[in-house]
Amino acid sequence: MAKIIAIANQKGGVGKTTTSVNLSACLAAAEKRTLLIDLDPQGNASSCLGVEKETFAKANVYHALINEESFDNCIYKTELPLLDLCPSNNDLVGAELELVHMFARESKLKVALEALHSKYDYIIIDCAPSLNLLTVNAFTAAHTYLVPMQTEYLAMEGLSQLLNTVRLIRASLNPKLTLEGILLTMYDSRNNLCKLVANDLMTHFKDDILKSIIPRNVKLSECTSFGKPIILYDITSKGSEAYLSLAREIILKSEKKPEVANQVKMPL
Ligand code: ADP
Ligand code: MG
Repeated sequence: MAKIIAIANQKGGVGKTTTSVNLSACLAAAEKRTLLIDLDPQGNASSCLGVEKETFAKANVYHALINEESFDNCIYKTELPLLDLCPSNNDLVGAELELVHMFARESKLKVALEALHSKYDYIIIDCAPSLNLLTVNAFTAAHTYLVPMQTEYLAMEGLSQLLNTVRLIRASLNPKLTLEGILLTMYDSRNNLCKLVANDLMTHFKDDILKSIIPRNVKLSECTSFGKPIILYDITSKGSEAYLSLAREIILKSEKKPEVANQVKMPL
């Protein structure tokens, strides 16, 4: 059965898409059958994997969500043999409005994914920078959520809102939703403020912080313009090393204690 992980933080520019794309690629490189779902109308994850926009104009996550197409028809192969993509584009803005009038609107993605559980080991969802109905769909479908946090001033801003949304979802739509972990991103060991913020976050969130830390690495921003995940762009880079380590950490966590739910225990 696939493990579904939502990558979420309503702040923009914290590394959600970079993490979704590169974690997915590294899971696939570790021989895990992986599906990346782009649930952001900006379609950044889709561009990062170099899938041509024209290819999926008529069958993407929007069409799958509003039941115009089966999910299968909205899935595309990528350069990595074990990594598939369900892309998105600006159409997805419309899905939010259309979903409002639909029955069980918060569970559309969950229901749509049921048929895919046996086809994948991991399903990664790249969320938009907001707590809208699409993100609620991601939380309702997911087993865990991973929160990328940029190691900079005001990193925690808005986090209480995110946790509140998770609390509401756990109380009604998805009681089993747990925290995969907080991922420190864009960490620069030469920058004192970065170090201070990272130490602060580690003191505050303790075991909820994932051991793998993503450094600020220019190759990680370069590879997106080439439509390639970091491991196909520069396998020797610090960025590759960090995301391979994150994939290993998540695989170990999932395989070692599949039934132990790590409760949301963030002290906010
Ligand atoms: P989000 O999806 O949360 O909005 P992105 O993943 O798109 O954030 O990242 C925002 C910007 O920062 C992008 O231009 C991306 O290339 C860059 N970026 C993300 N992570 C790193 C990193 N570890 N090192 C350097 N640049 C990064
Ligand atoms: Mg993004």
